[in-house]
Amino acid sequence: MNKTLGTGSVDRSARVRRIKRVIICLIIVAILLPSILCIILFAKLGKLEKQITELSYQKEIVNVVTETTRVNEPNKSDRKDDTEVLDIKKEENVEELDKVESEQTEQNDNAEISIDDEGLLGSVLIGKDEPATPLKLKRVYLTFDDGPSSNTPKILDILKEYNVKATFFVVGRLSDTTTPMYQRIVDEGHAIGMHSYTHKYGEIYANTDAFVYDLERIQSLIYEQTGVLSKIYRFPGGSSNTVSRTDISLLSDELAKRDIRYYDWNVVSGDASATYGIPKDEIVKNCTIKVIGLDDEEAIILMHDLPEKATTVEALPEIIEYYQNLGVEILPINDNTNEMHQK
Ligand code: ZN
Repeated sequence: MNKTLGTGSVDRSARVRRIKRVIICLIIVAILLPSILCIILFAKLGKLEKQITELSYQKEIVNVVTETTRVNEPNKSDRKDDTEVLDIKKEENVEELDKVESEQTEQNDNAEISIDDEGLLGSVLIGKDEPATPLKLKRVYLTFDDGPSSNTPKILDILKEYNVKATFFVVGRLSDTTTPMYQRIVDEGHAIGMHSYTHKYGEIYANTDAFVYDLERIQSLIYEQTGVLSKIYRFPGGSSNTVSRTDISLLSDELAKRDIRYYDWNVVSGDASATYGIPKDEIVKNCTIKVIGLDDEEAIILMHDLPEKATTVEALPEIIEYYQNLGVEILPINDNTNEMHQK
């Protein structure tokens, strides 16, 4: 009897051990399988992202070639068509913008891209056989929006290296790394402009009072940090933005009352068209070759000073060298700079 019981308990404990092993194996598989799948999927995702970047870059090149060809054609109606085809991004859901600060910047930046690209291409883009367009461009203004950020020191270092002065349209961003940047911008001879305190469309553009409140906040912050009473402004999203709930002319009247000038841009670097910027070479192209065909004597170039815009920083030396080699002046916005408005 005891023997039988003993054998039975041995069998049972062997069964229990087997079941335990099976359970452990199942748990391991249940953990490992999803992990392996995740790793595989992430790897694929990375690959796809790379392909997308590559493809969008190639698409841009194709567009440039196409536009260049059209610019060269004597028939001007083709150029008109291009203008009409240009996609002007509109953001209408202001409430949603209020909620997502980071997305807001991105949306804003998309709105900022609404500038007309038509006419920016010159025959400099075209092969050697084409006659060179006489250079109309006299002055270039490099402007950096949305800072200060962790990239500001890098931008400032590059500007110092090339002995170039730029313009920083700053927002209210106080932190250990960004607070000292207001002063450094001024100390190194750059122009410091206002780009709103919060950069939140829903707040700034709610009504005139809200706009003035925000304006005074950023002006005070700059004054407290640097002793400079800034008199230059850049509307978040530009003065022709489609998100403002208040007529921009009312807001620009408020600026005028305070003797503040505002500046849009006539050249976009394109660094806002993707969250982490666009490839460096594209930024260089947008800020140099495309600008040469401009009909204006002045180019105000829109760039962004944000942590995720690393390629903007990478592109900067080449952009500066390009204009220095051409003998075109690079200047900060000052009292003599003509106001540039999109409408
Ligand atoms: Zn901005």
